[in-house]
Amino acid sequence: MPQSTPHPPPGCPVWPGCRWVEVVSETIQTMIQSPSQAPSAWTHRFAELGPAFHSERLPSPLPAPYLVGASRAVARELGLDERWLGSDEALQVFTGNQLLPGMRPLASVYSGHQFGRWAGQLGDGRAILLGELPGANGPLEVQLKGAGLTPFSRMGDGRAVLRSSIREFLCSEAMHALGIPTSRALCVTGSDAPIRREEIETAAVVTRVAPSFIRFGHFEHFSHSGQHTELRQLADFVIQHFYPACHAQDGNPYARLLEAVSARTAELMAQWQAVGFCHGVMNTDNMSILGLTIDYGPFQFMDAFNPAHICNHTDGAGRYAYQRQPNIAYWNLFCLGQALLPLMEDPQQALEALEPYKALFPAALQRRMGAKLGLPQPQAGDEPLTETVMQLLAQDAVDFTIFWRRLSLAAAGFATPGADAATASAAIEPVRDLFLQRDAFDAWSQQWRERLRSQPGFDAAATQAQMLATNPQIVLRNHLGEIAIQHARQGDFGYLQRLHAALETPFTALPGHEDLAAFPPEWASQIEISCSS
Ligand code: AMP
Ligand code: MG
Repeated sequence: MPQSTPHPPPGCPVWPGCRWVEVVSETIQTMIQSPSQAPSAWTHRFAELGPAFHSERLPSPLPAPYLVGASRAVARELGLDERWLGSDEALQVFTGNQLLPGMRPLASVYSGHQFGRWAGQLGDGRAILLGELPGANGPLEVQLKGAGLTPFSRMGDGRAVLRSSIREFLCSEAMHALGIPTSRALCVTGSDAPIRREEIETAAVVTRVAPSFIRFGHFEHFSHSGQHTELRQLADFVIQHFYPACHAQDGNPYARLLEAVSARTAELMAQWQAVGFCHGVMNTDNMSILGLTIDYGPFQFMDAFNPAHICNHTDGAGRYAYQRQPNIAYWNLFCLGQALLPLMEDPQQALEALEPYKALFPAALQRRMGAKLGLPQPQAGDEPLTETVMQLLAQDAVDFTIFWRRLSLAAAGFATPGADAATASAAIEPVRDLFLQRDAFDAWSQQWRERLRSQPGFDAAATQAQMLATNPQIVLRNHLGEIAIQHARQGDFGYLQRLHAALETPFTALPGHEDLAAFPPEWASQIEISCSS
């Protein structure tokens, strides 16, 4: 008998050499040693700020919850036991039907400017913070959205519907995978409990995760209500935990905080613009003090490029149109600066802290657009190249995501020095096809190629790889979200799971996901997304 044939373990029913018996007994051993564990290491830095900042409030239960979707990646970040996440206990906990020992549920108070007007007190009207769990880079807050009434619900019902919860879940994870700072989403649960919006829908709860959900509006609240001790306490809290360098630097720490938040916001705006993302409700209560994308409502990744695009059906005047968003962010930062004035000796300090945004945003945008074009080292004089292509995209209403992806795929064939004309023109053809004004596109593409080749040590294949890692193949287009919602309403979460998986690797062309990267269907332009959620 040859020695290489392993001897089957006694009683193995499957295959000589198979470790079936060992594997089964190892698994059983592991399960005995580590039963499915609910998280227990809850902390509560925000709660410890004191009662001026929040109101303790239990989530309101929903009947017969079911799991709609979950992110294993977020579960890992929170150190959650995956088997526990699949348990009925987790389902009840993340619907707000059950608390775990160590949780301390609360709703926070904030105010804000909505659509350019002071709106007074708002607060977490349907979000309940459960506490924090330890993450790799510090504690992460875990918050239920749609978990029932709070003292800040005003006229609302404290609930969220399945439709908007699926959109928030998918978009949070899509943005993260694109490298854009965002709150995360651990899971969505649903219930057949009816919720009244324009029509009757069903309830859902999204479990959101972020280092902090503090908004510009939290500062506005304590400033406008004259609670300046609490304002200072809040600012000190944010500096201590998230911007420690502001205390170490010279000058007024609150002006430094404003400057640091402005810098993060400038970077965020450049990232939104570069990926064609619009946030439909950029009110100051939806602006994260950490420069994260938060409060996904009527957002959109643009299909056909239109700088004046308005993604929120409720925003008739287009205050939050795509091209206005960087200026709106500056306006919002101004509100934050105004709120922080009581902590400064001189208003000039706030103005000086806001000033760098005007240079930081365009520089960040140029850097991001340069990377999209395969020009990671921007040069003076690159702006017209970007501006021209954006104008062409707008004039011909070209699909934003498909243009950048096709351009990336064409880069090597088109720009390799010494490539013959036929090869180059075959490479660029799928991009050229997207335009009506072919001559204008040809003129631009020649300039682009010259600029690419002018880079020292230009390597066409490396440039193509860099562009493919910058320009996503898949973004959460409105119609994709809509299809996932329609399926989920029928109790089928397969499409949602497939879409979620594709959005987690947006730069990789996965086989079988071609439909998710295709042009939007005609009906996509008819989808109306409003503030109703
Ligand atoms: P939004 O524009 O969705 O971020 O919400 C603005 C404000 O309205 C926040 O204070 C929310 O908590 C509150 N809000 C939105 N929808 C509801 C709802 N269904 N029930 C209670 N409060 C809500
Ligand atoms: Mg909000």
